[in-house]
Amino acid sequence: MSHSPAVLEISSSALKHNFHYFKSKIKQSTKILAVIKADGYGCSSTFIGKILEQEHVDYLAVAYVQEGIALRKANIKCPILVLFPQMDNLDEIINYDLEPNLYSLISLKLFCAVVNKSKQSNYPIHLKLNTGMNRQGYTKSEITALKKILSQEKNIQVKSICTHFTSSSKEADNDFSHNQIKQYLEMYKSICSVLDDTPLKHVSNTSGIINFPEYQFDMVRLGIGLYGFGNDPNITKDLQLVPRLKTNIFQKQYLEKGESIGYNRTFNTEKKSTIAVIPLGYSDGLNRALSNKGHVFIHGKKAPIVGSVCMDITMVDVTNITCNIGDEVVIFEHQKDVLDMAEMLNTISYEIITTISPRIERVLL
Ligand SMILES: *Cc1c(COP(=O)(O)O)cnc(C)c1O
Repeated sequence: MSHSPAVLEISSSALKHNFHYFKSKIKQSTKILAVIKADGYGCSSTFIGKILEQEHVDYLAVAYVQEGIALRKANIKCPILVLFPQMDNLDEIINYDLEPNLYSLISLKLFCAVVNKSKQSNYPIHLKLNTGMNRQGYTKSEITALKKILSQEKNIQVKSICTHFTSSSKEADNDFSHNQIKQYLEMYKSICSVLDDTPLKHVSNTSGIINFPEYQFDMVRLGIGLYGFGNDPNITKDLQLVPRLKTNIFQKQYLEKGESIGYNRTFNTEKKSTIAVIPLGYSDGLNRALSNKGHVFIHGKKAPIVGSVCMDITMVDVTNITCNIGDEVVIFEHQKDVLDMAEMLNTISYEIITTISPRIERVLL
């Protein structure tokens, strides 16, 4: 088996641990929808989807239709919710037995037309309500029009009605979150007056599960927690990191004091230095803003990045580390490694793990 020069190892045991950790946090009657959009937060949606299917997850969710099709082609049979279906491939949703989350009157009408044309009955759909995120979903003023369409359309079945917290990890916004739920429940009740069935209620993402246990309702939408981050140090410490990014040293440079390293000579040695060269660069997801700032680990020791991160290659200082060509280099393997990198880049763990390039092979452990 030939791997790419850098590899993202995916720990199935860490994933199972995290899944069961959250399962133990919620009521037995509450279903879990695992969010595996953006290629399973960078960890391979087919790996993650298959493992979670074996663990009896209730639902999987992806952002776009093509992501759902990839799961079906990998023989995943679980119900799949498409969070943000676009209007141009609605018939593919039916062909691949996917369930759309519909978020506008136009998307609902268009999808119902596709359902009717393909002679489906009871086709499962989901509705998204806008309670303050102002990203997508029906607003209060659209509820009357929404109910009118729902009462006319006979071939769809509303399986769930959901909304999304704007600030479930920000305590200062708790009043706003409670108010979102209040609006959600009012809109939910109003919509139900024209439905025969009782749709599932779901609102919580990972931080919602942790910070608002009273709002678990019928289902929760678990994303980042599955991969090892609780958005709260007390939770994160009980989780395990699923992805581990590693590579190997492929060349060493022995420099005298006063030599420069890399493009535009942004680093100059202050003493005799040994440099290890690694086959991983900014196109792989090692952000260029980590130039002369970030670090990697070799034999458990920090090796600072020296010079500018290149497209495919990075140089690190190993003057104080005994190492050879071929030795393993770890970019991250603990949550702290990712969180430190996120802090240096003024971003969040989500962005670090979802921007590891597709060029890097995912290997399931
Ligand atoms: C991505 C997403 C989630 C998962 O959020 P996490 O914070 O990763 O748990 C849940 N719901 C919706 C609508 C999302 O877009």
